[in-house]
Amino acid sequence: MDVNALDALFFHGVDKSPILTVKKGAKIRCVSVDEFQSRWGNNDSAKDYLTIGEIYTLAKDPEIHGWHAKFYLEEVPGKRFNSVQFEIVARGGLVINPVITKTRTTTYRISHVYLDMMVFNENFRRIRADHKYQGFECFSCGKHFQDDEKISVIFTDKGNKTVCHECGAKFKEELGAR
Ligand SMILES: [Zn+2]
Repeated sequence: MDVNALDALFFHGVDKSPILTVKKGAKIRCVSVDEFQSRWGNNDSAKDYLTIGEIYTLAKDPEIHGWHAKFYLEEVPGKRFNSVQFEIVARGGLVINPVITKTRTTTYRISHVYLDMMVFNENFRRIRADHKYQGFECFSCGKHFQDDEKISVIFTDKGNKTVCHECGAKFKEELGAR
């Protein structure tokens, strides 16, 4: 196998390069029936079922794995092939538009800390069960409270929250330091 084929074999699945943006219905052309590529990820042997230069149709969206992707073809039902053995002729499916993803950050201003105010137990869970904010874990570090663990309560400008002893102590110290 030449260097280009090796490159395609090992980097296709990692950088999610364009071949993997195709969708069900896409037209793809077979460009390799290399046996080593076929065997990578336990795919069916391209040389047994496909012809180089022939155009095939994706029967469903690509199945993405850690290091490769599988293509299922309408023309060869029940078989799966390594995506690196194809090139795109027509994408099919929906047009993929560019997107911007933004994550919103919320700041909670702490005004009071009540260290070890309550004990986490069955009673606490029963009382809080119907609340939208249950407080079954530390609001700061996310740690889930264990039975009989002392939990602290903080007052914030967005409501009262429960925190673990460690986080509560930290906030109390920061409040006191001012
Ligand atoms: Zn915590």
